[in-house]
Amino acid sequence: MTSLNPVFRVGEQIAEAIRLHQNLPAKKAMEISVDLLREVGIPDPQKRVRDYPHNLSGGMRQRVMIAMAMSCHPKLLLADEPTTALDVTIQAQILDLISELKQKNNMTVVLITHDLGVIAQAAEKVAVMYAGKIVEYAAVEALFDRPLHPYTRGLLESIPARCFDSIEKRDYLKTIPGAVPDLYNVSSGCRFYERCAYADEACHDGMPLLSEIEPDHFVSCWKYNGGENS
Ligand code: SF4
Repeated sequence: MTSLNPVFRVGEQIAEAIRLHQNLPAKKAMEISVDLLREVGIPDPQKRVRDYPHNLSGGMRQRVMIAMAMSCHPKLLLADEPTTALDVTIQAQILDLISELKQKNNMTVVLITHDLGVIAQAAEKVAVMYAGKIVEYAAVEALFDRPLHPYTRGLLESIPARCFDSIEKRDYLKTIPGAVPDLYNVSSGCRFYERCAYADEACHDGMPLLSEIEPDHFVSCWKYNGGENS
């Protein structure tokens, strides 16, 4: 929401990308900007194109950013926390919009998020990263149904909704103890070692490779599946 330049009209900001990348005249670029605002669901785009960012709500600014990202017909869209700071209703609308544009334009979307609800709603394949490494990769259903890496399991166990049964029994919400390692000073072993309940000497000495455990389900852990595979 703060990526837009506050002193330029949103239409100019979209048109700039079109002019620079497609070498089109300013008038044509502005016409395309209007079309793009219409495509991302902004009402009255001919008027809105002359608005400044502060004239728009958070959700509308996010739509403008998406219009800008779509302006040069990308094959791949990197959406880094696209719904942060939006309320849940607008968040759902933005995710629906990204999904619709993805289908319509036959585009790949890489969604970067810490929000597991967003992942469940929007993703097809998920790569879970810890300290700069992919520790698990699977289809979204497999990941939520059968998480294998201790870090993934810890993340899922820390969702209040998933802990509802235990909350009723007055248990505490689970957390992952410790803190992320200093990335300037990582050991040669597993980066999750300090925080893992299943860690042993092998984990300290060597980094496990990302291996395919089930079809299309990869994990990087010596003892994936709750320590059963040591
Ligand atoms: S390799 Fe060892 S320390 Fe790392 S996640 Fe697996 S069990 Fe835990």
